[in-house]
Amino acid sequence: MKRIQFLTTTILSFILLLCLPASAPAEEGMYPISEISKLDLPAKGLEISPQEIFNPEGASLIDGIVKVNGCSGSFVSPEGLILTNHHCAFGAIQNASSTENDYLADGFLAKTRAEEIPAKGYTVRITESYRDVSAEVLAAAKGIGDPAARTRAIDKKIKAIIKAEEAAHPGKRAEVSEMFTGKSYLLFIYTYLKDVRLVYAPPLSIGEFGGEIDNWEWPRHTGDFSFMRAYAAPDGSPAEYSPENRPFQPAKYIPVAPEGVNEGDFVFILGYPGKTYRHQTSHFLTYDREFQLPYIVKLYDWQINVMEEMGEKDRAVALKHADRVKSRTNVLKRSRGKLQGFQRLPILERKREEEKALQAFIAADRERQKMYGSVLEEIGKVYKELREQAEYEFALEYLPKSVILFEVAKTVYEAALALQKEDIDREPAFMERNFAKTREGLFLKLHDYYEPSDRVFLKERLQRLTELPQGREIPVIAELARDANPGAAIDRFIESLYAGSRLGDAAFVQQALEKSPEALRALNDSFLRFAVEMDSAFRELTETRRRREGALAELSAKLIEVKQQLLGSEFIPDANSTLRLTYGRVRGYSPGDAVTMSPITTLKGIAEKTTGEEPFDAPRKLLELHRAGDYGRFKHPQLGDVPVAILYNTDTTGGNSGSAILNARGQLVGVNFDRVFQATVNDYAWSEEYSRSIGVDIRYVLWVAQKFAGADHLLEEMKVF
Ligand code: ASP
Repeated sequence: MKRIQFLTTTILSFILLLCLPASAPAEEGMYPISEISKLDLPAKGLEISPQEIFNPEGASLIDGIVKVNGCSGSFVSPEGLILTNHHCAFGAIQNASSTENDYLADGFLAKTRAEEIPAKGYTVRITESYRDVSAEVLAAAKGIGDPAARTRAIDKKIKAIIKAEEAAHPGKRAEVSEMFTGKSYLLFIYTYLKDVRLVYAPPLSIGEFGGEIDNWEWPRHTGDFSFMRAYAAPDGSPAEYSPENRPFQPAKYIPVAPEGVNEGDFVFILGYPGKTYRHQTSHFLTYDREFQLPYIVKLYDWQINVMEEMGEKDRAVALKHADRVKSRTNVLKRSRGKLQGFQRLPILERKREEEKALQAFIAADRERQKMYGSVLEEIGKVYKELREQAEYEFALEYLPKSVILFEVAKTVYEAALALQKEDIDREPAFMERNFAKTREGLFLKLHDYYEPSDRVFLKERLQRLTELPQGREIPVIAELARDANPGAAIDRFIESLYAGSRLGDAAFVQQALEKSPEALRALNDSFLRFAVEMDSAFRELTETRRRREGALAELSAKLIEVKQQLLGSEFIPDANSTLRLTYGRVRGYSPGDAVTMSPITTLKGIAEKTTGEEPFDAPRKLLELHRAGDYGRFKHPQLGDVPVAILYNTDTTGGNSGSAILNARGQLVGVNFDRVFQATVNDYAWSEEYSRSIGVDIRYVLWVAQKFAGADHLLEEMKVF
């Protein structure tokens, strides 16, 4: 990996410093790779040189770390074998499953490379280099007062930078990530591998053992891992799936350590954490707590019930819903955890205190007061407006997010409009560099389309929209609302939509995606017509959000600036799906009064939890192997059993799923997949008290692969003999 240059941004955030108990070791932080050399990791417990983790001049561990769609993963062999979570490979397993070959329920093992199944819609990303482009990006917005125009200017500049970089690096992808809102931007060069295949997935009764009951909980016994493989063209370059492709040979792969780790051991994690909110203000936290989280909880809870009920008696229907049910239940419980955290911990109160202290610091100097005096108040105003509009905006936003045929119609229409513009002026999803992915995503959605659930979800959205005054400003909605019996009018409307549309048919969508807006109109498809009628409402929403984003960007940049003045130190940017390192130790915790949790679970716990009923239905073979004490080389010397999951205090969030957990020597000892319930508030504030992440122990991964699945060839490939 080559380093180009990066503006330094380090150390603990002010906010979290204040939140930590004085005695706590400061193990918080999702450090960008540029910061690794400044961390003095050897003093914390690392036994290799930090250069072996990140070396701008040559190969290092980070070359073995990948982003697998929204998750993380790592290369564990020179032949492109990837270890990630079962829940990360879930979409691929579901897509390959049918009632005849139910890989989701029964698991899947490719005995030869030829048997590996293409994971549709999957890409694997490797970070190649980065460069600070803040000055260039911000120069584009200089002097522009109108917030929406500012956002547009910044977006356009970013697109231009990306275009130029991709032209200069053929075959690579460029992406610009905002590190500090409105303040700093990094350009990353990535390799994207597009031929990804499924190699081994355990049965659901291992990969999801404990299901939603155990999700976000400790003690844990879920075998949340799967193996995939990345392929490239014979010359090693990224290529779409082809039988001619060869396993990708990474510059570096992560060696696995079959001996695993022990309580107290130093560990670090390399991966792609998605999003944290530690630099957000109390205004955002209040909005999240009072509106956003409860909204999601209510909507998803209901939608999950609908899908589960419909799938109860028909496995084919359950398979259509499986991916959505899984991701929504995960978000649902996480949101509940956050709400509970807000209630139990003074997160919001502390944030307000910090803001008070900051305001006092600002007021103490006349120049500062002039420059920053109204920043927090202005941010508050933006959130006030957002809160007032939120019911309506969410009613709209969750229409395509809930109703597949509407999303298809909307995307098809927007694509037709976009294709009439210059590439640089299009929304990113419709630019040449992204269009194939957008199209592929659409067909994957269509694969999960099930008309009965789609209808129910549409009805609920239409009811909401007709009840809201802003919704009634949209003519097609107003017409429904005006009816003497709006409920019946909505039913009739839904009837006509599904009867008059062919968008459920992939071949039709394929053709529609090639048509001009006029030609689309001429198709006279009811759902397309509906999408056209809703188009101006969605456009207006985009513009409103652009304006808010522009206003918040300027204000947030100022806020960071003045916080830096107060603390005299720099901060770590919030997680943003770029590569980060976090370190800590294998460590238990106390989630409540008189409760102590130790940090390693074993097979014994699986046997104890097994009831024979889903989700505690461990396979008979696994239980027999345990009963026979057939542990091979994977027995923990003190525990006398195979470790299943481990607990540690590193700083992780969603997106870190599938991340390699490495020991002091840089070897893989586990795969991160979750956090404890109390740690869901980690996204706002890390604490040694409650921030614990959960990983599947490498010994369990290897034991299941070898003893349960008979995948000795994979162990050999990882050089575990
Ligand atoms: N299980 C989590 C997720 O996929 C990972 C995390 O958030 O810690 O969302």
